[in-house]
Amino acid sequence: MGRRTRRRWVGQPPDNFYFSRENPSTDANIILTVAEFEALRLKHYMNLNQEQASEWMGISQPTFSRVIERAHQKLTRALIEGKTIKVFGGEVDYKITFIGYGCADCDSEWEDRSASRDKKVKCINCDSDNVYYLIREPI
Ligand SMILES: [Zn+2]
Repeated sequence: MGRRTRRRWVGQPPDNFYFSRENPSTDANIILTVAEFEALRLKHYMNLNQEQASEWMGISQPTFSRVIERAHQKLTRALIEGKTIKVFGGEVDYKITFIGYGCADCDSEWEDRSASRDKKVKCINCDSDNVYYLIREPI
């Protein structure tokens, strides 16, 4: 179970999303990951409690705590040092509603509009049988 929590799910890209695969320079900017951004949005903007927010992101509450603590530290640093905050998404995918499968062995996730809990599928990446049905919906 632990490994499938590695990928964080987010509802929508932030408006100031720094849309690049290149990691922006951290000299002039404070880089919030999309997961950190999403944790802030869920907790402080949507006013979800930690249990709801961590569940929505598909991560444990301790992980959510770490993510949001990092976000708080970065925001504080940006305020004190007067830096620009960028949200850098890297490999994160955005889908408003996602239906498909995830692999517990290699953390791959793939969309399959005809996915169902009853189907037996193999991972498209590593061929493992250790695949779970995955559906995520926006709040
Ligand atoms: Zn796999």
